[in-house]
Amino acid sequence: MSSNVFELPAHDAEAAREVTAADWARLERNAAEILAALGLDLDTPGTRETPRRFIQALFDATAGYDGDPKLRTLFPSERPEGVEGRHAQIVEGPIGFYALCEHHALPFHGRAYVGYVAGDEILGISKLTRLVRLYARRFTVQERLAEEIADGLFELVGPRGVAVKLEAAHLCTAMRGVEEEGSVTVTTVWRGAYDEDDSLRTEFLTLTR
Ligand SMILES: [Zn+2]
Repeated sequence: MSSNVFELPAHDAEAAREVTAADWARLERNAAEILAALGLDLDTPGTRETPRRFIQALFDATAGYDGDPKLRTLFPSERPEGVEGRHAQIVEGPIGFYALCEHHALPFHGRAYVGYVAGDEILGISKLTRLVRLYARRFTVQERLAEEIADGLFELVGPRGVAVKLEAAHLCTAMRGVEEEGSVTVTTVWRGAYDEDDSLRTEFLTLTR
């Protein structure tokens, strides 16, 4: 297990995932048993490969566990331009994301807004998108996802404050009729200057409404 693979060592489970051919074969057999038991006919041209595709899709959807070295290597060198004043905030979004809820292993998805009061560096929208995906493409919960994005941004650019707002629909409730269609859960996380200055929070919430 090498922690060097990861550019943001903010998660205990961070280590490159290795799945051997024998592992894949076993995972596919296990997936086939579950899918068949639920009612899927695996003996058709369209479904014969479904267990393999299912495992592959889950593996891809959780690629955040493999880290994103480009987050660090494309950086540094972006300096703020035209960012003036001690409390000027930069707000980016919406950034679309898909995550898997760790309670049901089903997707929750929505939009992220990231605000920060820059120190000496800023991050472009493409890197903010990478940051959001690094933590979204895992098994997680909405509150922790917001906190990890905030803490990751702190580690990357050392801002004076960070705000993260996530709006998400949870398929684990929507698909089973537990929750009304179209229901959205909103989470906000504040760090640094946003904790101390409620006018910053108000401005952020107005800009992301
Ligand atoms: Zn769930």
